[in-house]
Formats: sequence, structure tokens, C-alpha cells
Amino acid sequence: MYTGNDELDLESRFVTTEYLPEDDGDNPLRPKRLSEYIGQEKNKENLSIYINAALQRHDVLDHVLLYGPPGLGKTTLAGIIAAEMGVNFRVTSGPALARPGDLAAILTSLEPGDVLFIDEIHRLPRTVEEILYPAMEDFTIDIMNGSGPGAQSIHLPLDKFTLIGATTRAGQLSAPLRDRFGVVLRLELYTNEELARIVTRSAHILGMEIEPDGALEIASRSRGTPRIANRFLRRVRDFAQVMNNGRIDKAAADLALARMEVDELGLDMVDRRLLEGMIKHYRGGPVGLETIAAAIGEEAVTIEDVYEPYLMQIGFLSRTPRGRMVLPAAYEHLGLTPPTPAGKAPAQQSLFTNEGE
Ligand code: ADP
Repeated sequence: MYTGNDELDLESRFVTTEYLPEDDGDNPLRPKRLSEYIGQEKNKENLSIYINAALQRHDVLDHVLLYGPPGLGKTTLAGIIAAEMGVNFRVTSGPALARPGDLAAILTSLEPGDVLFIDEIHRLPRTVEEILYPAMEDFTIDIMNGSGPGAQSIHLPLDKFTLIGATTRAGQLSAPLRDRFGVVLRLELYTNEELARIVTRSAHILGMEIEPDGALEIASRSRGTPRIANRFLRRVRDFAQVMNNGRIDKAAADLALARMEVDELGLDMVDRRLLEGMIKHYRGGPVGLETIAAAIGEEAVTIEDVYEPYLMQIGFLSRTPRGRMVLPAAYEHLGLTPPTPAGKAPAQQSLFTNEGE
């Protein structure tokens, strides 16, 4: 059971799915073509059909919305789509487009068929989003020239392009924007086997020696997320270099990840504190997201986007209309006694008793 400091340094959280400066080395690891992109089989199959159909028609690909937790390969997939279509890949993000003019400048500079990727598209200001509607639908934009009573609206045609939007939260997109995407793909957390393939591929690109059991060990602690798997690989390499002649096997991976306080399921102290806090102070739930956020000093959206998807995937946490609940598997993992349901409906909070209280 974790009995760590109360002071949590969230900045240094190692298992975060969010992009860290040390992930900068990821570029050579990004697959460039669909055939190199591991996992997400259904999405790949569908995309490949859409891409081939568009190529055969000599037309642009429909606008694509990619959604799912951070680090699952949305940016990578968008780049691959551009490469498969044989067009330029232009990258921007919702928060970077503060004014309508910022987006208009990019749209008017696109070449025919280009892919424009907008990361965190749910964070586009509304005034900027409104420029996108006619751009996506009719490939035109209306720009205001001047201001005040003499202002004139100029109607400009654009070259046809493909917009690829990425978001962690499809639910936050306004309906008019969401409806303008012809293709909507949800990215799923990866299986351990897929992550092991990703780790092995990355190790080869980086010139490392890796045993299958080493790759699987890293994979199984990576929370279903390629970004974390690649980050772990680089850290494990340092240990393997000093202690194992550079060879990454299960023992080296085990040791390195244990030193980083990442347990065998990929949970770190923040996860453990979140779960333990819910158990001790809220009888395992249901407890509201905002309450949990305040208790662990983290933003609710971060908990929702970054921490929860994996905890739900491994059956540790569930979202209910009345709040979050810790599930029995989490109690067992933390070395706590799961509450015993007193009746037939274990999901009911009133039927749970809490040990130690
Ligand atoms: P997102 O945009 O969803 O946050 P990224 O596209 O930046 O995620 O992916 C994070 C890293 O994970 C990339 O640098 C890439 O190396 C790796 N990656 C993601 N998806 C895959 C995949 N399907 N196969 C191999 N590597 C992947």
C-alpha cells in the first residue's frame, strides 16, 4: 500500500499521458505510413478505404475528427493521412488560434488538397470556430475588411482541403462543428500486446537490444498509451545500460520501473492517492469529480482525460450518474479489503460497508 508524502509533485508525474519535454525525441519514432501504425485496426481499415476512394476520385478526403485520450496517436495518424494522400501537413491547435484572422491566414495559404490539423479543437474560440463552418462546408471564408459602419465583408473562395481535428473530449465540441466532420474516429487504449510491438519497433529504431519479455513488461505498465511506452523505454534503457550490458529484459524493465514508483499495472502515486482518498474519505464513492479534483489538487478535466480512462479500462473505477465509484479490483490491488455487498445489487453505495471506518 502506498504511504507516500502528502505533498505531490504533479509536475514530475512520470506516467502522465500529456506531452513532456523529454518526449521530444519521439519524432523518429512516429510511424510515417498506415502500414507502420500499430493497433487501432478498425480505424485503420476504415481510413484506408476512405483514403483509397478519395485518391481514386482525385478528390480531397472528407474532414476527419479524431478523439480519445492524450498520447494515443492522434497527431501521428493525422500526419499519416496527409502522407498517404500525398499532400502537405499543416499543424496548429485550438489555443493557438486566438483571432479569426489567425485561422483565415492559414486557410488562405493552404495548397489544394492539403491537410490542416487542429489539435485540441474543442478549445477554439467561438469567433474562430465560426470561420470554419463555411470553410469546411463550401471551401469559402468571409473576412471583415475594416471596422465600424464602413466595414465590408469579403467573400473568398479557398482551395479544397481536409481538416483533421483532434480532441480528448468529443462531447465538448459544438454540434455545428461536430456535424461538419464526415469521418469521426474514436481511438482506443492499446492492448499490452500492441504496446509491446510499439516498444519493440521503437527499440529497433533507437538501436537498442530488447527481449520480448522486456517489451511486454514495459507495455503492461504503460497504461494503454504509446507515448508512455516510448517514454518508459528510454528510461529503462538507462538502467539496462548501467546494469545489464544494455540489454533490456524483464528484470531490467522491472527494476527501472519500480525505481520510478510505477507499479506492475502502471499506476503511480497519484493514482494510488486518488483511489485511496476516495476509499478512505468517501467510502469508495459515489463521489463527484469536482470533489476528487479538489482533494488531490488536480483539475477536473485532467482527471477525466488523463487519469480516468486507464483506471476505468482496468476495472478500478466506474463513472456513474451519481459520481465516481472505486471497484473491488482496486481495493485488492491496493492491499485493502474490498467492501462486501450486503445484498444483490453491488453497485448501490448504501449496500457497501467501509472497512476501517
Ligand atoms: P496524441 O496526438 O494522441 O496525443 P501522438 O500522435 O503525439 O498522440 O503519439 C504519441 C507518440 O506515441 C508518438 O510520438 C508516436 O511515436 C507514438 N505512437 C502513437 N501511436 C502509435 C502507433 N499506433 N504505433 C506506433 N507508435 C505510436
